[in-house]
This record gives sequence, C-alpha cells and structure tokens, in this order.
Amino acid sequence: MLKIAVPNKGRLSEATLDLFRKAGMKVESSPERKLYATALDRTVQILFVRATDIPEFVADGVAHLGVTGKDILEEQRKSVREILDLQYGYCRLVVAVPEGSPIRDAKDVPDGARVASSFPNLTHRFFSDAGRHVKVVEVSGATEITPHIGVADLIVDLTSSGSTLAMNNLREVATIVHSTARVVANEAALWDARRRPQIDAILASLESVVNARGKRYLMANVPKAKLDEVRRILPGISGPTIMDILSHPELVAAHAVVDEGALFEIVNKLKAVGATGILVLPIERLVA
Ligand code: AMP
Repeated sequence: MLKIAVPNKGRLSEATLDLFRKAGMKVESSPERKLYATALDRTVQILFVRATDIPEFVADGVAHLGVTGKDILEEQRKSVREILDLQYGYCRLVVAVPEGSPIRDAKDVPDGARVASSFPNLTHRFFSDAGRHVKVVEVSGATEITPHIGVADLIVDLTSSGSTLAMNNLREVATIVHSTARVVANEAALWDARRRPQIDAILASLESVVNARGKRYLMANVPKAKLDEVRRILPGISGPTIMDILSHPELVAAHAVVDEGALFEIVNKLKAVGATGILVLPIERLVA
C-alpha cells in the first residue's frame, strides 16, 4: 500500500481530509477514532500523525507522501521533496513585540534579547541573517504569553489574521515565512519505478482539486446574434463552449469556467446582452 501521512488534528486536519474526498480518495475513517485508515480500495493507507512529525516520517520512508505546513518544512529542513502547494492553511511566521516596545524592525532588537518561539531554527536563522545576537527560548505552545510573564522580550509565532497577537497586546514587526499546506514526497519513492505511477496519479488528482479552487462553472442561454459580445464576456479556459438549443434556434447555450471573483460582473454583463437561464455550479476538480 502507498502510505500518506496527514495531520491528525489542528488547523490542517479537516481541510486535508476534505481535499482527499474531493480528489476522489474517500478516507474510510476519521482521525478522532483511528490512527490510520485506507482509501482507494485499500491501495492507499492514510496515517494520522502530528503535523510536526510528518517531515521526519516522509524522509525516513515510513510514509511515501505527506501533507504538512511550509513553516514546519522550513523549520526542520528534512530531506524530502516538496511537490505541491495546496493553497490552504495560510499563515505567517512573524516577529512580534509587546505594544509599548520601541522596536519597529528586526534591526532595532538589542543583542541579548530573549525571543520565545516553537520555531528555534527559523528564529536563529532570521536574527543571525539580520546580524542580531539573540537568545532563543524554546517553547512548545502559548508563545504569546511569554513576554507578559517575563520569560521573553519578544516572540516569533504563527498568525493568520493577527487577532490573537492583538488580543495579547503584541505588535508584528517582521515576517519570516509565508506558509501554506504542502505535499511532500520521499525521494526514494519518487525514483521507484513500481511506485511512481501510483504517486503520479494521486498527485494529479490532488492538483486537480487545487486547480478548481475559486472557479465556478457557468451556463447561460444567449442570443446567437450576440455571440461576439458573449465571447468577450466569458473567458473560459479556451473560450466558452457554445452549443445549439434545438427548441430555440435563435439561442445558443454558452458554458465556461470562470473565476469566482469575476462572477458578479460576468452575470450582470450576460444579462445585459439578453442571456437567460443562467446557472452557476461548483467545480470539484479541474484536470488540465
Ligand atoms: P496546529 O493547529 O498547531 O496543529 O497547526 C499546524 C499547522 O497549521 C501550522 O504549522 C501551520 O502550517 C498551519 N496554520 C495555519 N494557520 C495557522 C495559525 N493561524 N496559527 C497556527 N498555525 C496555523
């Protein structure tokens, strides 16, 4: 069986199971109830493990593929091949200081300052690249409390909206890493001719879900006489697909894949040229 390690809990867990379902790999169990599950008629085994253990398991070959955050990959720098940006789980690893601090920038951080983080390697690298000699205090969670209890002067922590930092009276001064969830592969598995077709098929189906994100399928009946305008309004991948409507020779059906963000404008423009029966459908996968 091909083994894929996925986060068993935390922010990447739900979205990863949803991705696998959309890719046609329904996982037969949930991480709350089991340590592993099967998918694709038992040709794939899903291992539910901690996101921070995934680079090691993939590097060792315990799992052939894994899903984890770019932040974790950058922190650990294990020998794995990064294959695909899944575009969810967005967050940033930032340097933050207490509200009242005079620090505005990494170069304002005084030598000897204590920086709390659960990302000690990235913290060290960032401050030494900035020419600062700081003391890294390694913590495994609740980093944002450390400046308030006298454990650290500033922190390096993950944030997405910034609201947890603000709630803890902390202010961002620099960004170290922009992170999203990634698929990583074991190097040897990629070179294994017997494994490779199965890995490629799984990667292609995951990629098709990523490609469909933010896209909608739009269908509309439009007057044949307005086709030139319709072509200008509907981009499509290679322009819209146009089909005859037998019962209405003066109309054609136009179908296209459109960006979610452009929908509002496109629907209004189509109505203005006389389109009727406009339907907008979700797309689960887009195989290029
Ligand atoms: P956790 O929920 O602690 O298991 O987080 C696992 C991973 O989720 C992190 O390493 C990041 O890659 C990702 N993540 C996405 N958004 C956030 C956030 N706001 N705070 C922490 N982690 C995040």
